[in-house]
Amino acid sequence: MSSHYDVLGVSRDATGEEIKKAYRKLARTLHPDVNPGEDASDRFKAVTHAYEVLSDPQKRRVYDTTGNENGTDNGFGGGSYSGQGFAFQDIFDTFFGGGGQGGPTSRIRRGQDALISVRIDLRDAVFGVNKKLEVDTAVICPTCEGSCCREGSHPVRCDICGGSGQVQRAVRSILGQVMTSAPCGSCEGFGTVIKDPCNECSGQGRIRSRRSLTVKVPAGVATGTRIQLSGQGEAGPAGGPAGDLYVEIRVNNDPTFVRDGDDLHASLNIPMTSAALGAELTLDTFDGQQEIDVRPGTQPGEIITLRGLGVTHLRGNGRGDLKVHLQVETPAKLDAHQEDLLRQLAKARGEQNHPGKLAASHGLFAKLRERLGSM
Ligand code: ZN
Repeated sequence: MSSHYDVLGVSRDATGEEIKKAYRKLARTLHPDVNPGEDASDRFKAVTHAYEVLSDPQKRRVYDTTGNENGTDNGFGGGSYSGQGFAFQDIFDTFFGGGGQGGPTSRIRRGQDALISVRIDLRDAVFGVNKKLEVDTAVICPTCEGSCCREGSHPVRCDICGGSGQVQRAVRSILGQVMTSAPCGSCEGFGTVIKDPCNECSGQGRIRSRRSLTVKVPAGVATGTRIQLSGQGEAGPAGGPAGDLYVEIRVNNDPTFVRDGDDLHASLNIPMTSAALGAELTLDTFDGQQEIDVRPGTQPGEIITLRGLGVTHLRGNGRGDLKVHLQVETPAKLDAHQEDLLRQLAKARGEQNHPGKLAASHGLFAKLRERLGSM
């Protein structure tokens, strides 16, 4: 016959806590209600017996020194196991959710968290914004202030369970007849009954309400960022504390700027002549008008970087950059005079007969090649 330690799968020097843990784990899988097999029921008995011995310091000492528990064990197989000591209580705890301790449950509970989403413009993600929101959550009933009762009345003790919130029931089991407890159906386990409920909340202590609040959206948020407002979620039943409110950010697409991380990108069309001759231009950015210098000989796809004019970093200081992608516009329509000027230019540059020679590229194609070449 294997030792009690083997039965529980613990070492000889296991602590009381380890023994208890091992027993609970085994009992959960072997209990006849869960596992109706013959084998399981025999093991359940053995496991429970082993636990009974090892969880009692005195019995354990006797068992450790003599190898048996003679004289201290009243035998386990008896028909009625009427709740002496630990095992009965522990089985209660394990299988009936602590029902053995009894006691009514509180009406008051914490409310649920709530989630709403809010749309902001890219500019607001760059700098942050105070956003006004309409939220629809449970709030504490203003009439009864969470007491659930009509003014002047109070919850009264439940007649059915006598205020314990639990009713006892005899159940036949492998241990013989055991008493189990279940929440009282009359008071739903609260131990008290509200005879005269508040009109406004029907005795719930909370009502649904729409309210507006202002949320401070920090600079740097992106689509999917959640802002937690503690205690602004659903109020709990019977005046219980509210859960949290999560505000999920959605950033609208901007007609001009595209965001990549904390950098902003925009495209700027410049005439062919400006690209060739250079130009000074003024751009409208989120930070107002900015002067840029297009250098003479600018190629299509070149990027001018405006440092620190991107999105504010959500964590830490500083901002990303604004990158302006230059697109060179070729004139699509020329009048006779303009055409003549361009032909003169072409002649002066010896470009009348272009050789049409393919070559390794630069700019946009170089980037594409870089990206695709590695695939
Ligand atoms: Zn009320």
